[in-house]
Amino acid sequence: MRTIVKPDARQKIKLLGHLAGLDCDGDPASKTPRQQQKRDFLKEAVVQVQRPDGPMVVLRTLQTSACEQNCFYCPFRAGRSGIPRVGFGPDELAREFDRMQQAGVVKGLFLSSGSVGGGARSMDPMLASVELLRRKYAYRGYVHLKIMPGAERAQVEQALSLADRVSVNLEGANAKRLASLAPRKDFEGELLGAMRWVREIAQAQGSSFDRLRTHPAKAPSLVTQFVVGPAGESDRELLTTAERLYRGVKLARAYYSGFNPVPDTPLANAAPTPAVREHRLYQADWLLRFYGFALGDLPFDRSGALPSDVDPKLAWARQHLAGRPVEVNRASRRELLRVPGIGPRSADAILGARRQGHLRELGDLRALGAVASRAAPFVLFDGRRPPQQLGFWS
Ligand code: SF4
Repeated sequence: MRTIVKPDARQKIKLLGHLAGLDCDGDPASKTPRQQQKRDFLKEAVVQVQRPDGPMVVLRTLQTSACEQNCFYCPFRAGRSGIPRVGFGPDELAREFDRMQQAGVVKGLFLSSGSVGGGARSMDPMLASVELLRRKYAYRGYVHLKIMPGAERAQVEQALSLADRVSVNLEGANAKRLASLAPRKDFEGELLGAMRWVREIAQAQGSSFDRLRTHPAKAPSLVTQFVVGPAGESDRELLTTAERLYRGVKLARAYYSGFNPVPDTPLANAAPTPAVREHRLYQADWLLRFYGFALGDLPFDRSGALPSDVDPKLAWARQHLAGRPVEVNRASRRELLRVPGIGPRSADAILGARRQGHLRELGDLRALGAVASRAAPFVLFDGRRPPQQLGFWS
């Protein structure tokens, strides 16, 4: 039975913020009434996100929790009972958000939505809300706007003129995997197509985007999300798609969202995805984006899975560096980045320190920000293995 609710705007902020968090947080039906009562819905609506210049507190909300789609994993799927179907009008959302950001409660907005009347019609109120924020309320802060499947090119263009970040959520690693998660979504046309539009529009506009955004001269970033697990995809499939998007459409970031079964959905009995799988995917993704690893470098097993008991960089190093440690005083940046315990910052610090003199021991690495204990088995100092690793090699 559909729950009918007529909350005011402030109640909607709490309710829709709480509902927007269900993707990550499970389902209200799985909580006891006492646990439900204890939940602070406003805290669930106000969340911290990581931005390149540091953490930021944003309002995470939905334009509406109504949805006509039937995605198998989703708490909001059409016809599912127990979910309040609530929506904001653009004026209402813009006004409430402005009130919150004027009061210093939030610094940014992350706006998503259920789908009502198709992707294009669902995008209209989202765009209108942000347009009002930018023009009527002169808000210049951070906005992350989801591009709905089925949105039109002109809407994507408008989204890019208003938002600092847009997301096109692929959910599945490829068309076949998406079909077993969300059969009405069109992987190639609606989703990859929208990503290509984002790239084309960003390239065409260069630095001449509308000057309403936080960083007007900077093209908005594009991100995506995968639902990990229930479609039976391998880690290799997910990372293959992510790597293709990093190169092809300049995707800024992929999010790997471990699946949690939601009652009263077709995937209610599917197994939850172990947290370690999500963690390993993020580690491997990090290697692709910041450590110069290629897809072929990642230590997949025959089934395409990453090792679960060890991080992918250490697994790679055990295979490739165990007999050929890296000479810290001569290695290139790329070679240093292959060593466990050495990241981009410590690699740069090592290169800088080498211009002043030779590094002689693990303590020198530690002083430059490396995790020396992790690096120890895989490095040499002027041909000498650090004493700590003698046991490792004997
Ligand atoms: S379109 Fe979005 S909100 Fe609707 S069922 Fe699918 S994932 Fe859920």
